[in-house]
Formats: sequence, structure tokens, C-alpha cells
Amino acid sequence: MKKIRTRYAPSPTGYLHIGGARTALFNYLFAKHFNGDFIFRLEDTDVARNVEGGEESQLNNLAWLGIIPDESPLKPNAKYGNYRQSEKLDIYKKYADELIANGHAYKAYDSSEELEKQHQESEEANIASFRYNPDWLKISDEEKQRRDAAGEYSLRLRLPKNTIYEWDDLVRGKISVNSDDIGDFVIMKSDGYPTYNFAVVIDDHQMEITNVLRGEEHITNTPKQLAIYQAFGWEHPVFGHLTIITNMEGKKLSKRDKTLKQFIEDYKNEGYRPEAIFNFLALLGWTSADKAEIMSREELIQKFDPERLSKSPSKFDIVKMEWFSKQYMKNVPNEEIIEKLFSPKGADWNNLFVSTYKQSSATLDEIRKNLLIYLNPKDKEPENLELNNVIKSFYSSLKEKEFTVENIQQAIDETKEVCSVKGKDLFMPIRLATTYEEHGPELAKAIYLFGKEVIMSRLVKLCE
Ligand code: GLU
Repeated sequence: MKKIRTRYAPSPTGYLHIGGARTALFNYLFAKHFNGDFIFRLEDTDVARNVEGGEESQLNNLAWLGIIPDESPLKPNAKYGNYRQSEKLDIYKKYADELIANGHAYKAYDSSEELEKQHQESEEANIASFRYNPDWLKISDEEKQRRDAAGEYSLRLRLPKNTIYEWDDLVRGKISVNSDDIGDFVIMKSDGYPTYNFAVVIDDHQMEITNVLRGEEHITNTPKQLAIYQAFGWEHPVFGHLTIITNMEGKKLSKRDKTLKQFIEDYKNEGYRPEAIFNFLALLGWTSADKAEIMSREELIQKFDPERLSKSPSKFDIVKMEWFSKQYMKNVPNEEIIEKLFSPKGADWNNLFVSTYKQSSATLDEIRKNLLIYLNPKDKEPENLELNNVIKSFYSSLKEKEFTVENIQQAIDETKEVCSVKGKDLFMPIRLATTYEEHGPELAKAIYLFGKEVIMSRLVKLCE
């Protein structure tokens, strides 16, 4: 069997978006499941839209997620040519010339105004979808020669009449389109740049890509790509078009929607767990046969089955994302978190603090925020704090003891006995009087983390 080769081919027009990351991830899982190679290459021919550092940031964000390509512009395999489209314009030209020579493509001399006019006429004639008419343009031979010499033409693929382009989509099953519904389309623009459809076919062919998973917005491109494969007499890869990702209201994610964090960079900066996002993204449009949710990279690779790609849109549920991150945070070794906290406290304190807070935090930012509560304890008592018997009893029990987590717990237990209270009536007054917070982790630990000095001075001020 042929070695499986998949690819992720972003345009370096911005940061890594959730949608792009999911496409990359599914291609990665697909390749790794079948012991194949995952390739990263760049579609950077739309020069005006490229952003500086776009390639690097895409690669860095993928690496943070743990998606390391086997080949990329930084790790090319010479056998497969260049990994940036901008560096292979001569190759596209060579292939386009080949199609001209064998009659599969031709020069179209329409200026943009003329093309616009043809569009308008077709609209006026109420033709639902525009199809290019190669006989529309009437210009003299001299004018044609002038345009030819000046390079004022694009190249179009000549489609055969009434030919069916059909593929068995990995996600959606059989899809077919008639060539008459497409019309001759541009493969090389007048500026010498290839169109997306042309370049992507050359790239996939040159790089021996066997399987393509990409967003469903490309479904209408696929028949055009099949027409190009056919013109060259090449075998085409297997295609699968992933369904859209929506927000919780069921609307397609829009990069302009600022209420949702949509860029991997945002998650990275807040200190989410990369393994959690890897896991979460894998479930955006795919399910494991055993319905498992928490799965390591290795498990996902082993279980990934393209047959189980979803046919319906997947909802991006941020609450679920947080849940995933929490599940992973719990298991991160303390040292790894401590290293990033820059806490001025001692090793034992840091250890207890991290063990306590990693149980319920989704991000490093959250843990950091909690650290500040201890580093800069509040001076002002909370407004709803009122001295009562529970607090008095706790104070008198605690002040006799050495300040340890166990003894603090014992003082809480004694208070429970003495005052015959439990639950909220027990914990709330003690929590408020000692930590000045209404919520927090396990009470005895929270009290201990503030240190004897802070806690005792708060209690003394309140009780004496
Ligand atoms: N640059 C295209 C995109 O990001 C790649 C499309 C494809 O995978 O064929 O959508």
C-alpha cells in the first residue's frame, strides 16, 4: 500500500484559528494513525494578504499543540519540491504551459472590465450561475496580438462538455458535478500567479498527497481540481470535507466575533493546557467508537477512524473546553507549574499552593490570579463579615494550636462540635473571617496558605 501522506496548507494571513488547527489536527491524526507523514506547506501567493511572521506563528502554535509536521518549509524533503508556493512559480508556469501545448488550457484575453460586462449580461439574462463563455470576447487579431505581447491574458482550463466529476467524499459520500455547471475557469492569472485550484493540485500531486481533509467551503473547488487532475492524467487524492464549526447558537464561527477566543495563541497566552486543546479539537467533528472523551495523543492516534468524522456541524463549547483543560491541569507535575509562577514563597508553600489550586483551574492565569490573593492579602474586612459564635469558637480553638493544616482542620472540627453547626453555617463564617473571601479551595488549606501572621491578626482584630 502507498504510504499515507496528508497535509495542512494555510495561507500565512494571520494566526492559527480554531478551524485551521482542527484541520491540521485531523490531517495529523489521519497520517499518524496509518503510519504516514503529515506535511505543512504554505499557500502564500496572495501577497497582499500575507502577514509578517505568519508562517512562523502558524508553525509555533501547531508545535505548542504538539502537532509537529514531518515536512515543512523548515524541514523540506528535496524530493517533493518547495514548501512555499511563492518559491515555485516557475513550476506552476511549466505545468500551465504543458496544458496550453496539449490544448487543455488556453489564453483568455478579457480585461477585467470586459469580464465584468460578461458577468452583467449573464445576470441580466437571469442566468443563475455565471459560466465563462470563451466566444464572448470579440477583438481584432491586432488587438489580440497586442495583448498577447503585453502579457494581458489569463490562462483558463478548457473543460470537456457534459462530463461528470465525481468523488467519494470521506465525510459526505458520493458527490458529483457536471462540467457544464462549472465553465472554463482561470488557472493562471495575468500577473503570473497561479490560482488556488491550480496550485493546490500541482502541490498535492508533487508531494504525493494521498488524503485531503479540509473545510467544507472547499467542496465547490473539488470538481475544478478533479478537472485539472484529469487534464494531466493524474490520480487524485481521496477528499474529505469537514463540517463547519459553529458557536453555541449554531452560527458559523466568525473571526470577527470578539466574544469568543478563536485563536490558539489566546489559549496559549492564558496558560490553557495544550494537551487539553489537542484532545478537545479532536472531538470537534469526530467521536471515538468507545465514546471516550479524555484521550491522550497516543490514544487519539490509535483510535482515529476517518469513518467516524461527523456529518453535522460541531459546536464550539467553551465550557467544555475549560472542563478539558481542568482535567489535564490536575495531572501536571507541580514543578512545571511552579516554574512558570515566579512565586517568591518557599518550596513547601509553593507545592501546597499548586497542589490545591491545580485541582480546579483551567489555566495558568487562573492559578496566578489566586497566587496574588496570598501575596497581597487584603487589609479591609469584607462588608458582610459579622462576628458570631462560630468564629469565636474557631479562634479560641486555633490559637492554642501550632499552625498546621491538620490542626486548622481540627479546629474546624472542634467548632462543629461545640457550636453544633455544619455545612455552610460552619464554613462560611470561618472562611470569611480568615481568608476574607467567600469562595476558595479546601478551607484548612486556604487558611494555612495565608500564614499564621495574617490569619491571627485578622482573628485578633475581629474577636478581641
Ligand atoms: N489555503 C487553503 C485554506 O486554508 C487550503 C485549502 C486546501 O486544503 O486545499 O483553506
